[in-house]
Amino acid sequence: MMKTFLVTGGAGFIGSAVVRELIGNSEHRVVNIDKLTYAGNLESLTSVESNERYYFVQADIGDAKAMQGVFEKFQPDVVMHLAAESHVDRSIDGPAEFIQTNVVGTTVLLEAARLYWQQLKDSDPQKAEGFRFHHISTDEVYGDLEESGALFTETTPYAPSSPYSASKASSDHLVRAWYRTYGLPSLITNCSNNYGPYHFPEKLIPLMILNALAGKPLPVYGDGMQVRDWLYVEDHARALIKVATQGQTGETYNIGGHNEKTNLEVVETLCDLLDDRVGTSHLSSDSHRDLITFVADRPGHDVRYAIDASKLERELGWVPAETFETGLAKTVDWYLANREWWQRVQDGSYRGERLGVLT
Ligand code: NAD
Repeated sequence: MMKTFLVTGGAGFIGSAVVRELIGNSEHRVVNIDKLTYAGNLESLTSVESNERYYFVQADIGDAKAMQGVFEKFQPDVVMHLAAESHVDRSIDGPAEFIQTNVVGTTVLLEAARLYWQQLKDSDPQKAEGFRFHHISTDEVYGDLEESGALFTETTPYAPSSPYSASKASSDHLVRAWYRTYGLPSLITNCSNNYGPYHFPEKLIPLMILNALAGKPLPVYGDGMQVRDWLYVEDHARALIKVATQGQTGETYNIGGHNEKTNLEVVETLCDLLDDRVGTSHLSSDSHRDLITFVADRPGHDVRYAIDASKLERELGWVPAETFETGLAKTVDWYLANREWWQRVQDGSYRGERLGVLT
């Protein structure tokens, strides 16, 4: 049965993968609500923008009137809430925006959803029964894992380190409170680091690919020994849709790729892939690895994150399709084949075009 999905942050990295997956591989209708901050890029959605099941609304999730209007107009069955300020370094330089969008914005959205769902209980009890609010969060809410072998589970206590992860932890608590206090049918997922196509070039993997192609230094924080658990973004999008449609309300699901790698390993693997794909004639040495440059560590930098995603596998049958090796090779190939997309991000022209925008 066709459902209406309201996806917030659908012009971002993960949100656009969710929108492409829903439009490409389901019959559902998608309403993308995005403010189009620097991280929002409609050019990541060109493959779906003319589809009759796709709608775009430029709006801030912190705008209560706009959010109420969107719920009234589109009458969604499922909300997938991805809109957020998401870059840890930016949260260290300017935390206020993170509190505004991730905490206040989530509260405004929860209230708009609650109002809509309560009215639905009178007007269409069956639709109200099936309504879902899915909040997309991060494994960074759990803080740091020092012990090797230990994993974050759904019951690991929260201990966020950065303003970003603290704001995401706050929003998770708010979603749980709206479930416990008001009964809003909600679910939460906490995911490890994503990578893949359409990733904004300030993040580690695209930054390294683009710097390497330009023969520029590859800046690695500290000694590069921080461990992250990497998940291919399209695997994440499929997991999110499974949770939103088949998950149990009131539950939390961890999502991870079983791919623990140090940052240095990631950068070295990228260098080797690029040596193979593009050669080294643009460099003054015979390996991209020679561009690696260690820089001062990020304040409060967590040492290790690793996810136990067995609940999702056991209860909903989700497993990632990509290994780190296949996913990283696909990612490098995508950046090589889609130079226009990232060049337009780098020169800022992606922000100039706002075609097809409904307000
Ligand atoms: P992103 O920064 O690429 O995209 C965020 C999107 O939200 C952008 O399109 C932006 O324009 C939009 N947005 C920002 N503020 C808004 C506002 N006030 N109103 C409406 N739209 C707004 O982020 P991402 O990497 O795609 O992450 C999406 C979600 O997944 C976030 O909630 C993030 O915390 C979570 N997450 C990300 C990762 C990761 O590795 N990237 C891992 C786990 C969880």
